[in-house]
Amino acid sequence: MANLHSSGVLIFNVALPIPCYQLFDYLAPEGAQQVPLGSRVEVPFGPHKKIGYLVGISQSSSLPMTKLKPIVRLLDEQSLLSEHDLALLHWVSRYYHHPLGEVMSLAFPVLLRRQKNVLEPVESHYGLTELGRTLSPQTLLRAPKQYALLEKFQATPQALSCLLLSQWDKQWRVTIKSLLAKQFVQIVPAPMLEQLPNEIDVNEEVVCSSAQQVAIEAVCKSLGAFGVFLLEGVTGSGKTEVYMQIIRTVLQRGQQVLVLVPEITLTPQLESRFRQRFSVGIAISHSKLTDKQRCQAWLQIQQGHCAILLGTRSALFTPFKQLGLIILDEEHDASFKQQDACRFSARDVAVVRGKLLNVPVLLGSATPSLESLLNAITHRYGWLTLPERAGQAVAPELQLLDIRNKKMQEGLSELLLTEITQTLERKEQVLLFLNRRGFAPTLICHGCGWVARCLHCDANLVIHHHERRLRCHHCNQEQMLMSQCPCCHSKELTALGLGTERVENRLRHLFVDKTIVRLDRDSTQRKGTLEDYLAKINQGQVDIILGTQMLAKGHHFPQVTLVAILDVDSGLFSIDFHASERLAQLVVQVAGRAGRELKAGKVILQTRSPDHPLLTTLIRQGYHQFAKTALAERQQAYLPPYTYQAMLRAYAPDEMLVQSFLQSVCELAQSLNHRDTLILGPVPAPMARRTGFYHYQVLLQQTKRSVLQALLTQLIPKIATLKSNKTLRWSVDVDPVDFY
Ligand code: ADP
Ligand code: ZN
Ligand code: ZN
Repeated sequence: MANLHSSGVLIFNVALPIPCYQLFDYLAPEGAQQVPLGSRVEVPFGPHKKIGYLVGISQSSSLPMTKLKPIVRLLDEQSLLSEHDLALLHWVSRYYHHPLGEVMSLAFPVLLRRQKNVLEPVESHYGLTELGRTLSPQTLLRAPKQYALLEKFQATPQALSCLLLSQWDKQWRVTIKSLLAKQFVQIVPAPMLEQLPNEIDVNEEVVCSSAQQVAIEAVCKSLGAFGVFLLEGVTGSGKTEVYMQIIRTVLQRGQQVLVLVPEITLTPQLESRFRQRFSVGIAISHSKLTDKQRCQAWLQIQQGHCAILLGTRSALFTPFKQLGLIILDEEHDASFKQQDACRFSARDVAVVRGKLLNVPVLLGSATPSLESLLNAITHRYGWLTLPERAGQAVAPELQLLDIRNKKMQEGLSELLLTEITQTLERKEQVLLFLNRRGFAPTLICHGCGWVARCLHCDANLVIHHHERRLRCHHCNQEQMLMSQCPCCHSKELTALGLGTERVENRLRHLFVDKTIVRLDRDSTQRKGTLEDYLAKINQGQVDIILGTQMLAKGHHFPQVTLVAILDVDSGLFSIDFHASERLAQLVVQVAGRAGRELKAGKVILQTRSPDHPLLTTLIRQGYHQFAKTALAERQQAYLPPYTYQAMLRAYAPDEMLVQSFLQSVCELAQSLNHRDTLILGPVPAPMARRTGFYHYQVLLQQTKRSVLQALLTQLIPKIATLKSNKTLRWSVDVDPVDFY
C-alpha cells in the first residue's frame, strides 16, 4: 500500500505485459491511496485498452500532467498477489532482466490476464442437507446409484468436491442432479484450508527406511524457516515417499505445498499417488489444461481451497494463501528453464521464493545438476541421500557393449538381439532408447552425393518413412519423400543414420509375434495416446518399448528388465559443455526404468567409444563420481557453476544486420566493463540459420555473480535503445543451460 498525502493528483505506475522495459503513468482514480500494489488495472494504450498491473503510486510524472490519461478502471479491489509474490516478481524482472509487465503476467492465468470480468466462483462442493443427513438410504433402494452416493455422503464428514465425485463415478453429475432435485444434497462452498479435516492421510502403511527417516526429519525440522535441501536418491529409492511424508506434516500445520515436475506427462502419476494418500484438495496446473481449468486451479490455491498444487514450470508463480513447502522433483531437468520470453530457471526462482517466504525448498533427483551438487558439497544446501532402492528392488547392472566392427541390424547388434530374445522368452519387457525420431536423419543420393537439406535451416531433412515425407525438425517445413534425386535423377537414394521409426520396422520384422510400442513425439501426438500406451505397458500387454527422451522422464516401467541405449556416442562429442552432464543424467535416468520391482535389471550401452572416460567413470563408479569429475573439469576450465554466464542472442533474416547489432552490443558491454568480465563474440549460434533467420550470440562470463548482474543492469537498457531494424530480435539469457 502506498503511503501518500491525500492532497494533489496521484499517478499510477503501471507495468504492461509488452516487451518493453518502461513503466507507464496514468491518472489515478478517486481514493487511489487505498489501492494495493499488484492490482490489475485497465488502461488506454494507443487505440486499444490493455490490462496492466499497478506497481507504484506517485505524485509526479516525467510526462506533463496534461498528457496523462486516466485509467479506464480498476479490476481488483484487493490485490490477488501478496507482498511476497510481488517481491518475487520484481526479483525475477531484475535478475533475468526481463520487462516487469511480462513477468507479472506469469503470475496470472490467461483468463485473469485478459478478461475484464471479476473472479468466477471456485468450483463448488456438495454436502448433505438436513433432510439428506437423517434420511435412510434404503428409501433409494430402487435407484442404486443414488443409494450408493447418498451412502458415500453420509459416510464422509466433509463436503465432496467435483473431483472426488468424478473419481467415484464418471457419470456422477447425473446422479447428483437427482439428489439435488430431491433436496438430499446441496451445493456448498469449498472448505477453506483452516477447516481441513484432521484425517489428512488415508491408506498409509509404509514403514520408512532409516535414510528416508533422516531426510523427512531434516526437512520437517526446517518447516517455518528457509532452507534448501537436495534429496539425492536413485530412481526407485523412495523419494516420492519422502515427499509425501513431509507434505503430511506441512498439511497438519495448515499450510499448502507447491510440487513442481518437469513434464506434463509426469503429473497424472504423482497426482494419483497424492490422491490415494491425502484427502485434501489437490490442484493441477500445466499448459495442456484449458484456460478455465487453469484459472480454477489458480483460484483454488490463491484462496486456500486446495492444499496441494502440482504443476510444471509455469505453476511456480501461482500465489498461495499459505505456502509452507516447495518441492521440485527431477530438479536436474532442463525443462525447468524457460527457453523463451522470460528465461527464468524454475529451480532457482523456487529457492528465491522459499527465501522470501521463509519456507524450505526440497530438490529431488537421482542425477542432481552440477549446480545443486556444488551447493550441497559446499553446505549451502542440506544434502540428503537415499543410497538404496526402496523395498526389495535391486539396482540394475550397467554394461558397455563395444560395437566396433560388429554386425548390426538397423542399430541393433547381434549380442543385443540375443539379450532381447532371452528377455522376451522369460516374458519380461525390453526398453530400447534412441534419441532421434523419424526414420533416418539423412537422405543422400548415391549417384551424385546430393543431400536433402532444409531450405530455411542449417539442417538436413529427416525422413519420415511411414508418412512418406521429409521434415525439418527445426522449422517443421516438410515435403513429399522423392524417389529420384532432384539433381542427377538417379533412383538410388539412400537413408543414412537411424531414427526410432527405422528401428521399429526392424523390430517388427524380427519379432513378428511380439507387441512393440514406439514412444516419441510423432507417435504420441494425439491427446491421450501416451497415457494409453503407458497403461498398456503397465498392464504387461507390451513386449518391447522403443522411444526417445520421453522414456527418460520418470515414468515407472516395473516389468522392464532389459534396457538398451542404442547409440550413446551421439551424446559424447558436443561443443556445448553442458552435453556431458546431460548424457550422464540421461543414461542413469533411462537405466533407472529397469527392474524397479523384484526382478533384477540389466542395462546395455552400445558404443564405439568404450574407453571414453565419461562412460567408464559413469559405468564403473556411478553418477556421483562422474559428477565430481565433471565438477573438477568445470572448475579448471572456469565454467559454471564456478563462474556465471549470460548469453545475449540476436536473430534476423539479414546476417550482416545481426552481426553488426551484436558488434555494437559488444562495444557497449566493453565500455561498461570495468571488472574483467569476459565478453565473447559475436559468434554464430551452433546452428546459425533456423527458419530463415540468422542467429548470433555473445557470451558474458564472470567469476562474481554480482559483477555480472551490475554489468547487465547497465547494459540491457542501453541495448533496448540501440537503433535496430524491426526485423531483428534479441534476448538475454541469464544462467543459460544450453548454447543452441
Ligand atoms: P522414487 O520417487 O525415488 O523413484 P518412490 O517413492 O516412487 O521412489 O518409491 C519406489 C517404490 O518403492 C514405490 O513403489 C514405493 O511405494 C516403494 N517404497 C517407497 N518407500 C518404501 C518403504 N519405506 N518401504 C517399502 N516400499 C517403499
Ligand atoms: Zn543425385
Ligand atoms: Zn528447417
